[in-house]
Amino acid sequence: MAKYTESKCRLCRREGAKLFLKGERCFKGTCAFEKRPVAPGQHGMGRKKISEYGLQLREKQKCKRIYGVLEGQFRTYYEKADRMKGITGENMLSLLERRLDNVIYRMGIGSSRAQARQLVTHAHFTVNGKNVNVASFSVKVGDVIAVKESKKDNKYFAEIKQMKVGTMPKWLEFDPETLTGKILALPTREDVDVQIAEHMIVELYSK
Ligand code: SF4
Repeated sequence: MAKYTESKCRLCRREGAKLFLKGERCFKGTCAFEKRPVAPGQHGMGRKKISEYGLQLREKQKCKRIYGVLEGQFRTYYEKADRMKGITGENMLSLLERRLDNVIYRMGIGSSRAQARQLVTHAHFTVNGKNVNVASFSVKVGDVIAVKESKKDNKYFAEIKQMKVGTMPKWLEFDPETLTGKILALPTREDVDVQIAEHMIVELYSK
């Protein structure tokens, strides 16, 4: 599968925002964006004025990078959102939030979406009792997500069992003791805490 090869911190500097791609490091003083909040490269210090198209493009890139989705797949999310009832941009963010890798991250089982994706693709989870190792799997209301019985005693999940549940988005529930979570509702715009101006992405794609 194709993937981003550029350093994650470079992506933050390019987008001019913290994208929280590296888990715990993003919350420490070692965050590269906090140390050097300018675009990478020779001309990073002196950014030119960006056109409206450029701003829309950057917003799309930022969103793709936050969720770790490649161009073709991202476009598919937009097209699906456009066919749904409601506001296209909000639908698109809701679809992205419903990805299994994002759900694992939101439940606090992975420290970043990238780590959560790796846990999913390494086949650590079941959804409604069935093995699922597809990061883009879209959850629905009532789905029960659990760590596989055979994986529950490994060191990583033994530590998760000791974890205190932090602030959980209200559409999700997770019990560290049983390593089981549930989808209580579909995520709405107010549940999405990423700093994205989704209307700009819609404007870009609807040209
Ligand atoms: Fe971005 Fe996290 Fe790197 Fe900071 S530490 S630049 S937020 S990926």
